[in-house]
Formats: sequence, structure tokens, C-alpha cells
Amino acid sequence: MSGSVKIVETRAKSMISRMRDGFFSMRYLPFRLTANIYRGCSHGCVYCYAACTHYYMRSSPNLFSKEIYVKKNAPEIFEKEIAKYEQRKRKSVIVIGNISDTYQPVETNYRLTRKLLEICYKHDFPCFIETKSPLILNDIDIIEKLAERELIGVGMTVTSYDNEFTRLVEPLVPRSKFVRSPIRQKERILTLQRLSEIGVDTYLHITPYFPFVTDEDVERIIRDAAEAGVGNVIMAPLEISGFIWNRLKKVFKSSERYSSLIPLYEKRYFESGRKLGARITTSEKEHYKLEKKVSELCKKYGIGYWAFNNPQFNTAVISGAYRLRYPILLDYWKLTHEKGRLRLKDALQFAMNFPVDKKYLSALQEYFLNGELFKGVYGVRKIVENCEVVYVPA
Ligand code: SF4
Repeated sequence: MSGSVKIVETRAKSMISRMRDGFFSMRYLPFRLTANIYRGCSHGCVYCYAACTHYYMRSSPNLFSKEIYVKKNAPEIFEKEIAKYEQRKRKSVIVIGNISDTYQPVETNYRLTRKLLEICYKHDFPCFIETKSPLILNDIDIIEKLAERELIGVGMTVTSYDNEFTRLVEPLVPRSKFVRSPIRQKERILTLQRLSEIGVDTYLHITPYFPFVTDEDVERIIRDAAEAGVGNVIMAPLEISGFIWNRLKKVFKSSERYSSLIPLYEKRYFESGRKLGARITTSEKEHYKLEKKVSELCKKYGIGYWAFNNPQFNTAVISGAYRLRYPILLDYWKLTHEKGRLRLKDALQFAMNFPVDKKYLSALQEYFLNGELFKGVYGVRKIVENCEVVYVPA
């Protein structure tokens, strides 16, 4: 046991997962490979989308932050699997820690993330880390070596500059010993600054964007990130499931300042929101307004914006580890506008410039023909020309 967190050591049979080519991944995810050393995450974010993955451990989402499974043999298995991808010439960016923060406090004892980074370096394999934790700077030496070969990207989440709100929704993310700011989440921007200075491809993740809260600070956050030399911004509004809503309500209720969010969120999500798989998100109209606002702020402060839902707002230049990625909606949207029309054979040919596999190509064919690839997207429409599906700029 470490504090009130129970650590369970396990042995993994496999380390690299290849994500499914579903609606969400085909449109928005530039990666398919993921590796998680830890199951569970002691950061305890009340909005965590990954908590339900504890069901796979025959445990409960309520224990996600209290029961951490450590795959002790992770490096050994990871290296074997990396070598297989290398042999098949299928090197595409691998996200380390997509369902648990790989730099949560337990990493200080095990240093397994560091070992995975060393393996990526040894095999020239591109990787991406998304974290909220300042502990990433413990590994700045190996990260710098990876950055010299453009093999690493790092994204850090910043959603609010209000310390009370941060304590409510992300109660256990550690403070930084490397960089200090009276604003807790600003330390993440300062961490990104350190990483940008050594050539790492850096991303500010405003994920999740909390309606009525992030609004207060979003301009300062984007300005600070731009001044810190961060490469691009990614934004996604908060999504709510029944489990997440119960937890959010509890913490909002406990705060005099934030209890008024409950009726506002009920209206925004349960009255006018839309379903997104098992969760509810804000309406298309709200999402559009938010993307427009964030992209305008990014333009104002000179930082790229990687627009996923509304490609017309994109200003991001994708480089670094994401050179070796899977194409997404944004790429096909741009291609349609460049070529004036997009046929299936063009889309497939384009995709083959990326390190995609056969599964992806057959999913692309399906999503292209059934219209899901561009469904509801601004600026592109589907036509049928000589019995062939074609997309044209609208
Ligand atoms: S850091 Fe990420 S994985 Fe960990 S609790 Fe927070 S949202 Fe979940």
C-alpha cells in the first residue's frame, strides 16, 4: 500500500493494443497503437473517462484511483512487440498511457515509463505521451534524445486557472518540483515550455473544456501556451456519463462557488446536449461556437489549432512523432478541397502514404461509402456520379 492507494503487481501477456477502427477513431484519432503500463490512476480526476476500464480488472470504477495495477514485465513484452511492428515495417506513433496517466506517482518507484521510452529510442519508434504530471521532467534526458530524432510528442491538459476548481476536479495530481507557479495548472504550461525548449513537439490539451469554467481562463491559457512556445492546441468539450455526472454533482455541491454549475450543466447536457456513444456532449451548435472561439484565440496569439470536429478552423502544422500517424477526417477534408473532388481510390491511395494497415483500409472503404466519414461535417457534401460515391466541397 502507498498512502491510501493499493498497488498490485501483475504480469502482462501483451502490451501494445491496436485500437478498433470505429466512427470516433476513423474521424478523430491519429493513432491506433497504445500501451498502458498501469491500470488505474491515482490522480483521481472526477471526470475521468477511463475509470470504467477497471471493469476489465474485475474491479469497480470507484476503485480506479485507489487500486493501481502495475505490469512489472511491461518493458520486456513491449520490446518484443515493438520488434514485430518494426519487422512488418508498420511503425506508427504509439500513445503511452491513454487510459491511465503514465507519470502518476507510482512511476517514481517503478520507472517503467522511462524503460519504454528507452526502447522507443533503441528501435526508432515514435511515441506520444499525454499527461497532467510534472514527473515527466524526471525523464528529460531520454525525452531530449527522442526529440532529437523527432520521435516524441507530449500533450498536457490545462482546463482552468482556478485552484479551487482544480482541487475539486483533479484532487490528486502532484505539484511540480521543477517549475513553480501560484496557479496549479499553469505549472503544466511551464513544463511544456521546458519540453519545447529541448525540441519536443508539444501540445496544450484543453480537454475537457468545462463550459462556464474554462471560459473564464481560456484566453490566458492559450496566450501563456503560445508564449511558452507550445506547438499546437487541441480542445474537446467535457463529455458526461451517468457515472461521471454523479461524481461531478457531488464535488460541485461541496463548493459554494461551483454549486451553481449543476443546473447550468443539466440544461447544457441533459436538455440540449447530444449522445456520443455512452456519453453526452454539448450540442453541435455549442461545439461549433467553442471551436470557433478557440481557433480565433489561437490565431490571435500565434499558436496552431488542431481542429478535429470542424476542419475549417484548423491551423495546426503536424510534425514530430505525428508524422507517422493514421490519417483522420481533417486530412480527407483538406484533400477534398485541394483536389475539388474525392473518390474512394484517391482516399485509399492517400492513406497509403501513412503507415496504415489492411484493417484501416477496409474500414476507410466502409466509412467512405456509407457517408459516415464526413457525416454532418461543414464544407463537404456527398454526391453520386456514374454510380460512384464522390465527395465535393460544399
Ligand atoms: S489523469 Fe487521466 S487517467 Fe488519470 S484520473 Fe485523470 S483523467 Fe483519468
